[in-house]
Amino acid sequence: MERRRSVYLDHAATTPVRPEVARAMLPYFSERFGNPSSLYALAREAKGAVEEVRDRVAAAIGASPEEVFFTAGGTEADNWAIKGVAAANRRKGDHIVTSAIEHHAVLHPCRALEKQGYRVTYLPVDEFGRVEPERVEEAITDKTILVSVMAANNEVGTIQPVAAIAKIARDRGVPFHTDAVQAIGAFPVDVERMGADLLALSAHKFGGPKGVGALYIRRGTRVGTFMDGGAQERGRRAGTENVPGIVGMGKAIEIAVAEMPQKSVWLAATRDKLIRGILDSIPDTRLNGHPTERLPNNVNVAFRYVEGESILLMLDALGIAASTGSACTSASLEPSHVLTACGLPPEHAHGSLRLTLGSRNTGEDVDYVLEVLPQVIGRLREISPLGGGM
Ligand SMILES: *Cc1c(COP(=O)(O)O)cnc(C)c1O
Repeated sequence: MERRRSVYLDHAATTPVRPEVARAMLPYFSERFGNPSSLYALAREAKGAVEEVRDRVAAAIGASPEEVFFTAGGTEADNWAIKGVAAANRRKGDHIVTSAIEHHAVLHPCRALEKQGYRVTYLPVDEFGRVEPERVEEAITDKTILVSVMAANNEVGTIQPVAAIAKIARDRGVPFHTDAVQAIGAFPVDVERMGADLLALSAHKFGGPKGVGALYIRRGTRVGTFMDGGAQERGRRAGTENVPGIVGMGKAIEIAVAEMPQKSVWLAATRDKLIRGILDSIPDTRLNGHPTERLPNNVNVAFRYVEGESILLMLDALGIAASTGSACTSASLEPSHVLTACGLPPEHAHGSLRLTLGSRNTGEDVDYVLEVLPQVIGRLREISPLGGGM
């Protein structure tokens, strides 16, 4: 099988910067290069651009501009939310409630806090990767200082009932954080309707540049300072602003939100075509994640008798970029924490494949995948030590 095309199906990992976004960023590197904190026209121009994006991001998520803080990406926003709330509420309590399927940007800060003496409850999920709101209710104690549940999962695509979870947290007086990195541009994100007190987003997941994101902090939420230094971000996240990156994020969120209604319909139809096509043409295959409450661009399937990384290598040779939740780089052959938490049957656990669509994908891309994937899985099963050889 020779390389025929180039099909990028890993938009949950990152997305290409849109041409309009790159164009918007360009002047802020070498012409409008001023430091927003300085006191002359060139600086005011940069400052103005940054504040315009703050307004735009706020409008996109139903917040006020003073509640939006720029960060160096989604990981930083999650770290700030979790460690910041923990530090500011230490005297009040030491308990955090989160889920077992969070991104490492949430799980690892929680683990770091556990080493400092905080206690963390990692809520289980059902077979579709959903957190049941009643579980949150049961987990909250009078020492709970934060509930953090992601809006949508990056691996299996499951959308969480965050509004119901947030309501429970609020009724108990506990702030609610949501990692909405995968949600922006996929479905409407509104901090009021979601009931979020903190919300993380990342530009490179919706057509913006890497290394820039934002944390929404509801007015009145007790959160510590993230970075000490200058007075940027109202003294709470010091450091000269990534002006070109912020400008790019502003353009990207504007386009992502405007395109969402149409794009999400096309994506969901294409996603379902892919899922049906794969399940119909390849035996011993199952869908991971929720059948309907899932991101419009997410396909995640598990093939019995094959190994995820072998699938990726063969797809790569065919020009297809995809991802797996079953890495065998560790000797343990452990599937990802997300698939494990969903209780994926062991016979399927090693052969998962994630395909995440984007606006540049075409119907031909899908046809190509549906043409080559059955051959790839068939060949791997022929030589598989896991059984299933024919
Ligand atoms: C990508 C991602 C992050 C991390 O964002 P970065 O900007 O890459 O640091 C966090 N959470 C989720 C759900 C993600 O998909």
